[in-house]
Amino acid sequence: MKLRENASKIISDQKPHELAGQASVSVLKTGWVRAEGIGAPSAPFTYLQPEFDWTASDCYLFDIDGTLLNSRDAVHYHAFHRAVATVFGLEFRLDGVPVHGNTDVGILRAYFEQAGLPDSEWRSRLSQALEFMCADVEDNATDLRPEVCPGIPQLLQRLAAQGKLLGVASGNLERVGWAKLKACGLRRHFSFGGFAGELEKRDEVIAHGIEQAHKLRGSETTVCVVGDTPADIRAAHANGVPAIAIATGIYRTEELVACNPEMCVQCCEDLLRI
Ligand SMILES: [Mg+2]
Repeated sequence: MKLRENASKIISDQKPHELAGQASVSVLKTGWVRAEGIGAPSAPFTYLQPEFDWTASDCYLFDIDGTLLNSRDAVHYHAFHRAVATVFGLEFRLDGVPVHGNTDVGILRAYFEQAGLPDSEWRSRLSQALEFMCADVEDNATDLRPEVCPGIPQLLQRLAAQGKLLGVASGNLERVGWAKLKACGLRRHFSFGGFAGELEKRDEVIAHGIEQAHKLRGSETTVCVVGDTPADIRAAHANGVPAIAIATGIYRTEELVACNPEMCVQCCEDLLRI
């Protein structure tokens, strides 16, 4: 109850669909990240479901893109482009391909389906393409320009000081995700991660993260997902764990609240105020 009283703006008495208003809530938005405007300062916002205590979990699984950081470079995009050109002889295009909330493997699948490439043809060369992408990002790591989202370093320090287990649950390939986190100095905060690669669906990535948390701290360890898209919220709930939605990616708070997270804030600075 104290949490609710102290929140900067509590709107949990309203129903998610009322908050969403006329907002169009798509499953996955298409197009690559537009650097402009994302992560720009906005007014504080806190949505909290009654009885949810965001500080109570033993482990927090953070998404990377749009949650921990926003990339101000095209290193990851160029890696997709060069891998598809080199391994498949095709020109990578993102028109109509869902990117936000998707995984790297899911993005490739959507592109190949759109390009009319049969499953059997791309599946056999997928691991080669993924290896190419990882090596390409690592080779160009000095060009990575990740911008850490507001309040993230302070939040991670606070959670670590409280003895919380911190992990990553990202649709990035593992080496790509760690390269971004290294480039902005956040790598040291995380002891493990769930990534795309052998796993394609975000549900599976989060399930893998939860599995690792249980191995590290025991099967009673409670986990909370922190993400910036409806896909993060759905994947958390599919695994029976709560989700904190942060509007530092491409989705607005009303679009995230419409997906019924346990909590939604404009940015992590709002969490630190509670
Ligand atoms: Mg994200």
